[in-house]
Amino acid sequence: MDEKIAPHLEELTRALGDLEKTGIRGEFEKLIAFRVPPDVAKESILRKFGRNRVLKVKDLSANLRNLELTGRIMDLGEKSIRPREGAQEGPYKLYTGVLADETGSVLFSSWKELPGSIGDVINVKNAYIRVWQNRINFSIGKQSLVSKVSDSVLPPLSELSGSQPKKLIDIGNADFSVDTVVCVLQLSHREVLVKGRQARVITGVFADETGRLPFTAWIELPGIDIGSIIRIKGAQVRIFRGMPSVNILSSTKVSLVGPEEARKLAFTFESAAKDPIPIKIEEIDSRDSIFDVAAVGNVVSVRPGSGIITRCPECSRVIQKGNCRVHGKVEGMRDMRIKAILDDGTGSMSVMFPRDLVESIYGKTLEEAEQLMFSDVSKDVVYEDLRRFLTGRYLAVRGNSSKGEYGISFVAEKAWVPDNDLEVRVVELLRRLGPDEEDGQDRNSQVSGGGIELA
Ligand SMILES: [Zn+2]
Repeated sequence: MDEKIAPHLEELTRALGDLEKTGIRGEFEKLIAFRVPPDVAKESILRKFGRNRVLKVKDLSANLRNLELTGRIMDLGEKSIRPREGAQEGPYKLYTGVLADETGSVLFSSWKELPGSIGDVINVKNAYIRVWQNRINFSIGKQSLVSKVSDSVLPPLSELSGSQPKKLIDIGNADFSVDTVVCVLQLSHREVLVKGRQARVITGVFADETGRLPFTAWIELPGIDIGSIIRIKGAQVRIFRGMPSVNILSSTKVSLVGPEEARKLAFTFESAAKDPIPIKIEEIDSRDSIFDVAAVGNVVSVRPGSGIITRCPECSRVIQKGNCRVHGKVEGMRDMRIKAILDDGTGSMSVMFPRDLVESIYGKTLEEAEQLMFSDVSKDVVYEDLRRFLTGRYLAVRGNSSKGEYGISFVAEKAWVPDNDLEVRVVELLRRLGPDEEDGQDRNSQVSGGGIELA
């Protein structure tokens, strides 16, 4: 193992300095102990402790630290924060507002007075991202370095404030306000609890020629239904299950796009409503999250924790020995799931299959799997059976992907064996003929050598 991690430690030392002194070596070893492959562990450490990754607004996502951003102050306000009872310091002032660059705008908060006001361009180093009320907040802390920079590095205020229409693929978790033209693919009314009160919301899915995103409308949308093509101005982005969701509020302007104008768009309802064509895992890996995407590959391993599990009836957490870590002793509910690594030669990702998909792929219902469990002395009998059954299988999956600290996690909503699927076979053929096959194989061997394969 040491031979495999030594080059990563050297690289980390070059990037971050003395690993022992900063405690980073310990962090790295903790990840290795959790069987995180060394290259993934290195990336994760670099993300967490790397010095000042220079980013644009569109690249901001949860859990980033030590980042550098140059933005124009679009809005700025201040509030006094009363110190906690008995605190030595304070009162504090918190400065909040919106920063923008040519890729988007983001909410910020600062514990420091800024060296500029509305309209000025500032450069911030050592900033971090906080998620507050499901929104990305660019946070300027006491350790951050803020300086005013030349006005000419960014487009003028007037250009940045009239937010330009974005394609769905370009909408990121950080976007403070977006304009877009989309068609409504799915739409339904729901009752939700907001601060203890019932509220009626509309939820659904938008699509354009670049992709799909979920949306929530907190207002009525008269005249708008599935198939409508609409223009949205000033929608907010919130994070929902790790991916951006478009929120339509009372301040958002929504209007129908007329048939004349709709003809000039690069999509129609029919084209946008087509099932997604499988893409390479490499491409999925290059994005923070993708909503409703498909991929095909081979199951290279079935992870422990697959098979029959028990959940807390209150919070659905997986529990051990009838004890939920939040609700204590509970009457657990049986469930079945698979966590598998799918690999298509360009990359690999962890795919979670919920019970209904497990039942259809595995060909056994939860009850039948329970029978198997009770008939055997080994408590891992279902997991072992799933491993034998699934490992090496060629599978297509459709669902949502989001990137966490340990790589992509993909939650499948559909899964099928793609033997008669022409599109899938074409993709597979292209992959085999593709020039990057060698590359892919290299990565394969690295992944399995790095500890993803479990004995
Ligand atoms: Zn619980």
